[in-house]
Amino acid sequence: MSKIAVVGAGPAGCSAAYHLARSGHEVTLLDKHAFPKDKVCGDGISIESIQALSMMGIYPHDIRKSASEYAPIDHFFLGVSNQIAHSETTKLQAYCIPRFFFDQLLFAKAIDAGCSFLTQTVNKNDWHRQGLYDAFDTIIDARGVYAGEVNAIAIRAYWLVKRQDLSPTALAEAQIHFDRSLGVNGYGWIFPVSTQDDPIKLNVGVGVWLDEYQKRKTNIIQLFKQFIQNNETARQLLTKVISQEPPKVFPLATAKKGNKVADGKILRIGDAANLTDPLTGEGIANAVLSGFYVAQAINMSSTPDAATDNWQYLYESQFEADLRAGLRIKALRKFSFMNYLLIWLMKQNPRVAQQVSHAVAGVVPYNEVLASLKY
Ligand SMILES: Cc1cc2nc3c(=O)[nH]c(=O)nc-3n(C[C@H](O)[C@H](O)[C@H](O)COP(=O)(O)OP(=O)(O)OC[C@H]3O[C@@H](n4cnc5c(N)ncnc54)[C@H](O)[C@@H]3O)c2cc1C
Repeated sequence: MSKIAVVGAGPAGCSAAYHLARSGHEVTLLDKHAFPKDKVCGDGISIESIQALSMMGIYPHDIRKSASEYAPIDHFFLGVSNQIAHSETTKLQAYCIPRFFFDQLLFAKAIDAGCSFLTQTVNKNDWHRQGLYDAFDTIIDARGVYAGEVNAIAIRAYWLVKRQDLSPTALAEAQIHFDRSLGVNGYGWIFPVSTQDDPIKLNVGVGVWLDEYQKRKTNIIQLFKQFIQNNETARQLLTKVISQEPPKVFPLATAKKGNKVADGKILRIGDAANLTDPLTGEGIANAVLSGFYVAQAINMSSTPDAATDNWQYLYESQFEADLRAGLRIKALRKFSFMNYLLIWLMKQNPRVAQQVSHAVAGVVPYNEVLASLKY
């Protein structure tokens, strides 16, 4: 049994803390915020995330019972610059849940599993100053995006719309729009997040990558306004909005090349390890999964040094291929003709449209899509 500190109680930290406590380790979970707390997010809990949550004993039934606000999702819409609008229905359900409720669900699981919790801010240089380095056998860094390498930025707004103004499909549909007005790799989203009551709550936002963003003489708020003006669906939806919360901005730490996720006895997971999807900004699935695999790395190791090597190994074997494939697709999309080719292929061939939509929705891993193109 080891003494383990998990710093950061987001999806990654709560998952690691849960799995480690269940394996019999003495786990202290630390976060700078007390619960419940908000996190700026699209609130999309993909099918892959739902599967990862089941490993923590959280099932859709628990979501429906415990979260005060949620929306079951079984339609995935992919739009490209108003030129293609493809909606796929999936047999498995995803969810959208405001992070205020979602994070609380995971936190309760970690505490039930036997972790102790401290509200404490731990900055990078504090490991030694606060005595954590000596007091614990292993430290898991799950402090999110600021502990990783920030390479994207996003903005989120909540809109309220009357139920009668939305179609039944829109109530269960997660929409992603790759619009050229947001830059070659930017995207917008429209997700219903609370469909139990009337009015319906929608999460609307955009994400852009810093390398493209910095070249443009604009800011994220301006890009958000542009998305709403230029995107047909968003523009029409805005006319039905009865009230809205001011938008909030937050950075992302998406995949990067040559990623090292372990450093001595400090093992990074979730956004702190840049595990977010480099095309859609979806990060919850990998955050929750990384909590599971880091616990495995510790459980299979006889010393903290071995845990460091094993976590790097598990990262490379479980996450790297798909993140790299995402990076490769992102690089290809820099050529503007790729967007037109994508639109043309999706219009010509419904199977391509289906596969692209499934990949973006996280139902099929990117590396499998790329591999299938070789044949
Ligand atoms: C606008 C936006 C939209 C997004 N939309 C989606 C989406 O729809 N679906 C999806 O899957 N992903 C989405 N993501 C990505 C997703 O939010 C992250 O990938 C996910 O939250 C990562 O989980 P995490 O546990 O690694 O980090 P976080 O959720 O950020 O948790 C980190 C925790 O560490 C704590 N902490 C931070 N610093 C310290 C410190 N110094 N000391 C102590 N504690 C600290 C924080 O309080 C927090 O609780 C979005 C991101 C953004 C910005």
